[in-house]
Amino acid sequence: MPSGSDPFLPLLAEISEVRDLTPDIKLFKLNLREGRIDYRPGQFAIISAFGVGEAPFTFASLPEEGLEFAIRKMGTVTSALHDLGPGDLVGIRGPYGNAFPLEEYKGKDIIIIGGGIGIAPLRPLIHWFIKRKGDYGDLLIIYGARTPRDFAFSHEFEDWARGARLELAIDPPGAPEWKGRVALVPAVVKELKPSPRGSIAITCGPPIMIHYVIQELKALGFSPGQIVTTLEAKMKCGMGKCMRCNVGNKYVCKDGPVFTVEQISQLLEEF
Ligand SMILES: Cc1cc2nc3c(=O)[nH]c(=O)nc-3n(C[C@H](O)[C@H](O)[C@H](O)COP(=O)(O)OP(=O)(O)OC[C@H]3O[C@@H](n4cnc5c(N)ncnc54)[C@H](O)[C@@H]3O)c2cc1C
Repeated sequence: MPSGSDPFLPLLAEISEVRDLTPDIKLFKLNLREGRIDYRPGQFAIISAFGVGEAPFTFASLPEEGLEFAIRKMGTVTSALHDLGPGDLVGIRGPYGNAFPLEEYKGKDIIIIGGGIGIAPLRPLIHWFIKRKGDYGDLLIIYGARTPRDFAFSHEFEDWARGARLELAIDPPGAPEWKGRVALVPAVVKELKPSPRGSIAITCGPPIMIHYVIQELKALGFSPGQIVTTLEAKMKCGMGKCMRCNVGNKYVCKDGPVFTVEQISQLLEEF
């Protein structure tokens, strides 16, 4: 449960830094003016733009790195947040949801597969696995974006490539300035053929990408228990009260957003 006496009452936070990651994604660094939020990678918070509304966003940093959120401009709330800058105040409540069971992954090879803004919940994992290399096996990162300008966190790619195998791809038909791979993310999985032996694959991105990535991983022999994803659903409260984000008898906000494919295949036929 979130900190504070009233779980719906946001804590005040000041924006300390805003960085353009792509033409439509900004990274916001927040400093809490009051209280504390203890979270684990995979969890999310609900951020309010005062006078406009609130929306859920995954923590995009490790707790020791400070509070960071990568926010893509979509509609009302995200546009209002994009209009804010350093010194402006927002509300934040949370953390909500479950987290990646990072202890369970110890000793395993890790394959991280992201698309677009789906890299947001994966970034703290990338930092975690690179910092604790000795505890885990090999780290492979596959990250796809529409165009070269749509890669979020490209300023960190050198660091990622030092600690992991980093494979980038942009969508067909490619771009004149791009000398790298041109392919959709599921095709990169098919091409690289990561081994399922002692591995965990963690994926986040647009639903259609996740769907086909899961098919490719299964074709390579990954069991549904070895594939982990984070689900998005429209939600208001974030704590299982408003009943907007149910999938079958589970709530994305409370039982998720992190699920194995084994868990969600019992809820959704499409997986
Ligand atoms: C658990 C969770 C974690 C999330 N983490 C992030 C994150 O780290 N970064 C980020 O940029 N976004 C994240 N999102 C999505 C983000 O919450 C939505 O983009 C945001 O709610 C849109 O609010 P808005 O008022 O700007 O858009 P609205 O004005 O409400 O809607 C604009 C358009 O976006 C669509 N839309 C709104 N919410 C969603 C949604 N949840 N899924 C799909 N389509 C939606 C609407 O149907 C509409 O077409 C997350 C969502 C969830 C549920």
